[in-house]
Amino acid sequence: MLNRRDFLKAGAGIALAAALPARAAAAAGHIVIIGGGVGGATAAKYLKLYNPALRVTVIETNRTYIRPYGSSEVLTGHVGMNDLNVSYDTLKSKYGVGFVFDTVVGFDPAKKQVRTAGRQTIAYDKLVVSPGISLQYQAIPGYSAAVAETRAPSGWIPGSQTALLTKQLQAMRPGGTFVIVAPPNPYRCPPGPYERAALVTEWMRKHNPSGKVLILDPKDSFVTDATMQLGWHRLYGYNIPNDYLSDMPAGVKNSGKPSPIEWVRAMDGGAPQSLDARTLTVMTKQGAVKADVLNVIPPMKAGKLAFDMGLTDASGFCPVDRRSFESSVHRDVFVIGDASIADAMPKSGFSANNQAKVTARAIVAQMAGRAPGEPVWENTCYALAGSDYGLYVADVFRLKDGKITRLPGERYLPLDASMAKIRLAAAYQQAWLKTFTEDCFA
Ligand SMILES: Cc1cc2nc3c(=O)[nH]c(=O)nc-3n(C[C@H](O)[C@H](O)[C@H](O)COP(=O)(O)OP(=O)(O)OC[C@H]3O[C@@H](n4cnc5c(N)ncnc54)[C@H](O)[C@@H]3O)c2cc1C
Repeated sequence: MLNRRDFLKAGAGIALAAALPARAAAAAGHIVIIGGGVGGATAAKYLKLYNPALRVTVIETNRTYIRPYGSSEVLTGHVGMNDLNVSYDTLKSKYGVGFVFDTVVGFDPAKKQVRTAGRQTIAYDKLVVSPGISLQYQAIPGYSAAVAETRAPSGWIPGSQTALLTKQLQAMRPGGTFVIVAPPNPYRCPPGPYERAALVTEWMRKHNPSGKVLILDPKDSFVTDATMQLGWHRLYGYNIPNDYLSDMPAGVKNSGKPSPIEWVRAMDGGAPQSLDARTLTVMTKQGAVKADVLNVIPPMKAGKLAFDMGLTDASGFCPVDRRSFESSVHRDVFVIGDASIADAMPKSGFSANNQAKVTARAIVAQMAGRAPGEPVWENTCYALAGSDYGLYVADVFRLKDGKITRLPGERYLPLDASMAKIRLAAAYQQAWLKTFTEDCFA
C-alpha cells in the first residue's frame, strides 16, 4: 500500500520516455479520466459527444464494471451476479474512448501526469477523477475488511461480498434474523439500505416466512422514509412510529402485531457501537442484538485514490468549484461522483451521471477559452418497497451563493398515490436501470 507521500513521489519520479504521447494535445487536448464507473464512463462518452476531436482515455482497474445500482436485487435472486456486469466495448467502438486497464498509483500535478501500477505514465491536459467511495470498516469497533469478506459482508461496493451475503441469506435458519446496520450520512445511495431491507423481507415471506429483518440505524430519519415505511406497512404489516403516523393517509393504523421488518432509529437506541464478528452480535445502546445474517453498511468517505492524490478535505470528500467540479486543490483536475462534495445533491449514480455531463461541458468550454455555462443538475432515486411497489425522490438543483441548492417543489411520490401510480413507479425503476446504464456506457 502506498501512503500519500509515496503516491505523489511515484508520480514525480516518472520517466518521461515512458509517457504516453499526448499526440492530439496540441489540436484538441487529452482528457484522462480515472475510474470507469458511472461518473467516469459518462464523462468519457459526453466529452466525445461534445467535442469528437478530443482524445479521451479512461484508466480503470477492472476490465468489466460491476454496477452497484440494482445490486440488492442479487440477494433475492431477481438478477444474478453476472447481470451486474457492464462492458466498456461500446464506449471504445462507438465513441472512440481509449481504455487503460490499470490502477493509478502516482500523480504529479506540476507535470500533469499520472502513473499506474503497471508503470505506465500518462500525460493529461485535463484530468477527471471519479473513484467512488471507500468503506470505513474500521469505524465500527470489531468490524474490518477481513470480517466483511468472510463473516459480515457489506456488499456496498458490489462483488464477492454481494455473492457471500446472497449465500448467507439463502442458508439462514428458519425464523432467523437478518440484521442490516445502516450507515451515517453522507453515504452512497440514501434510500438503498431501506430498499434492501424491503426486498429481503419480501423474499423471506416466500422462502423463510418466520424470518425477520431488523435495521439498526445511527440516524433518526432517511430520505423517502415516510413513503418507504408506508410501503413496508402495507406489504409486511410494519408498525409505523407515532411521529410518522400523523402524516399518513386516513385509515393507516398499526396492528400492533409483530412485523417481519423493524427499524430501530438512533433515538430508540439503534445506533451500532461495536460488533462481535464471531457471534454476529451488534452492541447498541438498546443492548446486544444477535444476528443470523449480519449486513453491515459502514461509514463512507471518498475513494482511496482521492486521499492519495491529496484531493480531500477534513470531511473525507473532495471540495470542488461547484460550477465545473474543478478541484479546489489542484487546477485542471475535476472530481465528480460520490467522491465529490456536492451539497444538496445525494451520492447517487443519477447525480454522478449529471455531474459528469455538466463537467464535460465545462471542460470543453474551458478548452475553447469560453466560460462554462450556468449549470442545472437533476437527481431521481427510485426505490422499491416490494417488487411491484415503487417510490422515488426527484430533485432539480441550481447554484445559489456558490452552493448546489435544491429547487422547491414536490419531491416524493405522494403518500396518497394510487396503487396504479405505485406499480408504475416500480416499472419506472426497472426501466431506469436499463436506460440509465445505456446513457452511461453505450
Ligand atoms: C445497493 C446500491 C443500490 C444503488 N441504487 C442506486 C439507484 O437506484 N440510483 C442511483 O442513482 N444510484 C444508486 N446507487 C449508487 C450508485 O451506484 C453510485 O452513486 C455510483 O456508482 C457512483 O459513481 P462513481 O463514478 O462516483 O463511482 P463508481 O461507480 O463506484 O466508480 C468508481 C470506479 O473507479 C475505479 N477506481 C477507483 N480507484 C481507482 C484507481 N486508483 N485507478 C483506476 N480505477 C480506479 C473503480 O474500479 C470503479 O470502477 C446504488 C448503490 C448501491 C450500493
